[in-house]
This record gives sequence, structure tokens and C-alpha cells, in this order.
Amino acid sequence: MVDLKGQYEHIKEVVNQSVLEVIDSTAYINGPEVHAFQKELEAYLDVKHVIPCANGTDALQVAMMGLGLQPGDEVITADFTFAATVEVIALLGLTPVLVDVDPVTFNIDIEAIEKAITNKTKAIVPIHLFGLAAPMDEIMELAAKHDLYVIEDNAQGIGAFYTSKNGSKKKTGTIGHVASTSFFPSKNLGCYGDGGAIFTNDDTLAHTIRGMVNHGMYVRYHHDVVGVNSRLDSIQAAVLRAKLPYLDKYNTARRLAAQKYTKAFAGIDQIITPTGYCPTGNTLCESCDCHVFHQYTLRVQGVDRDALAAHLNEKGIPSGVYYPIPLHAQKAYRDERYRESDFPVTNQLVKEVISLPMHTELDDEQIAYIAKTVIDFVKS
Ligand SMILES: *Cc1c(COP(=O)(O)O)cnc(C)c1O
Repeated sequence: MVDLKGQYEHIKEVVNQSVLEVIDSTAYINGPEVHAFQKELEAYLDVKHVIPCANGTDALQVAMMGLGLQPGDEVITADFTFAATVEVIALLGLTPVLVDVDPVTFNIDIEAIEKAITNKTKAIVPIHLFGLAAPMDEIMELAAKHDLYVIEDNAQGIGAFYTSKNGSKKKTGTIGHVASTSFFPSKNLGCYGDGGAIFTNDDTLAHTIRGMVNHGMYVRYHHDVVGVNSRLDSIQAAVLRAKLPYLDKYNTARRLAAQKYTKAFAGIDQIITPTGYCPTGNTLCESCDCHVFHQYTLRVQGVDRDALAAHLNEKGIPSGVYYPIPLHAQKAYRDERYRESDFPVTNQLVKEVISLPMHTELDDEQIAYIAKTVIDFVKS
């Protein structure tokens, strides 16, 4: 699904040298590499504050803690996403409220959010799923109307732009009140272990969160709030510093690979290729910067999706099903408030989606072989 080795080969010298320098310096925790990476990522995103932390799940959790969300507060998020999003809501004693997604973009559905808002709702967590910017204009409007926080889960969307209806353009993760991201190795900006970060333009919130990730300490050994231990290692920061200058190039490589896949699948009735949300409406988006293709995800119809995956596997092609079970149907997150009729889209998507290999090192021959193998199967 990803070719981390191939990517590493291109940046080996820089990465090796900076990692060795960290080891030599012995500044393993909160060293100068972490601070430098923070500043470089702030500049890249055009956001006031980046707070590095240990992983993307912690980033979400601390973002919610920083906002002061309290047990019983309802937090609305999508039924179709990675479990980390709902996990931290539940872990903090908040009440997760799962809602359906849009069949075209796979992102959280605006009408479903609106229907789910109650007087206990405190926050919305949109996910820029598979790398496609969620409809932030509508989400921010709803949030303003109902006085809610917006926490962007940007683990899959780093580097994507969101263009507002008024034409203003911002990177995902810099639009809501706070955002989280992950540097898990397979993410678009991945380190060589675990890593994550929180972004915000709010000075007060940034200060609160910066202490929270370090045991609630603002002055050494003075613990003002209950915090956690969630720090980005200096070695991982060194890897990320070496890779950040290539992120746009990496995302362009993914976008070009996506375009080639989409072109190859044109006219195949059983296959729906990924499209994007654009301010002008739902248009084919593989050439625009609102999608960074963390995953290239097809919907297959009238085809046994699992048999297709098995066939690809036989032909030496990895594939993934993100995600095979709706969150509302997961044992840990079932709730009597949910009705199956609340989730028609997610219930359909979990049966139809299949993600193809997507990374920065895909070449034309590989793409053509993968596309042909998929097409031969769905047509047989
Ligand atoms: C990867 C991911 C996370 C969690 O990130 P970790 O660094 O693995 O903790 C959270 N949300 C989404 C949508 C993700 O894809």
C-alpha cells in the first residue's frame, strides 16, 4: 500500500545525518530539533501555533481537553472514519454522537450534523477523510450558529487546501478552533515511529495545550492542570524536518497517481472513482489542491468487493478496506440512540469501498497493471 523504503532511499543522507546528530547531542526530549520543526510546520501551514505531541490520537485528546470539554458534553463526528476519532471522545467521558457521511466525498454530512445538534452539543469533529478537505464553510457556519467548537482531525489531510466560497484559501487544520494531525509512518507526512501535533490560531488555547502535553506543567514542577505525557521525540522531529520540504512534492506525486488511476477507470460502470468537494459544487477534483490522496478509494458496485481484494492479492497487489465496519456498529461504540436508518451512506460504503496502493513512488507501469487487474476482474 505504501513504499516507505523507496521514499527513504531518496532522502537517506539527510535523514541519517540529522538523526545521528540528535543521538550525538543527547537532547532526546524537547531538543532544538522539536522546536525547529514546530516553527517550520507553523510556517508551512500558515498557522500561529503548532504543538508537537506523541501521536495523532493524543493530539485529538489533548485538543478536546484544552477546550475544556466536560463529561456529558456531546461531540458530533462521522460514522465513517478511523476509530481514534471516536475513541478519545469516549475516553474523556464525553458523549460521541456519530452521524452519516456524504456519498460523493465520504466526508461528514452537513444535514446530518444539523439534525444531531442538541442543547448538550459542544463540538464538531470533521475528518479530512482520505486527504480530502471537509466542507469547512458549512461546518464553521453551523458551529457559529450553535456556539460549538470545531476540532479538525487532519491526520489524513496534511497539505491540502480548502477554498472558501468567498475565494479565501487555507490549509486544512487551520480553519477550525483547533486541529490534530498524525505523523504515523504511512501518513502523508510520516516519521519513523509515532508522532503527532495540534494546531491552533488561538494564543490562550495554545498555551493551555502546551502545558497539558507535558504533565500540565507551565512552570517546572508546578502542575496547574491535569495533563498527559505526550511529546514528540527529537529523533522523530529530525526525520520530519528532513521530510517537510518534500511534502508538497509528495502530495503532488499522489495527486498525479490518482489522476492516472481515474483516467484508467473512466467509463467502467461498476467503478466510482473518488471525487472532491469544491466550493462550486461536487466536481471532479483529482487535479485540484483540496485533495492530497492519503488514500485512493474506489466504490465498486455490482461486484463482490472482498473477492476483488482477494483477486488483487493473488496478483501481488495490496489493497485495503478503510473502513469495513461503521463505528456505530462497533461493539465499543454502540448506543441505543442510533437507528440503522440514520446511516444509509456509511452502511453502503463499508460494503463498496476499496483503497488501492497510493504513495509517492508509484510508477506508470504499476498504476497501469493495478488498474488493468481491477478492470479485468470487475468486467469478468
Ligand atoms: C491515523 C489517524 C489517527 C490517529 O493517529 P495516530 O498517530 O495513529 O494516533 C486519527 N484520526 C485519523 C482519521 C487517522 O487516520
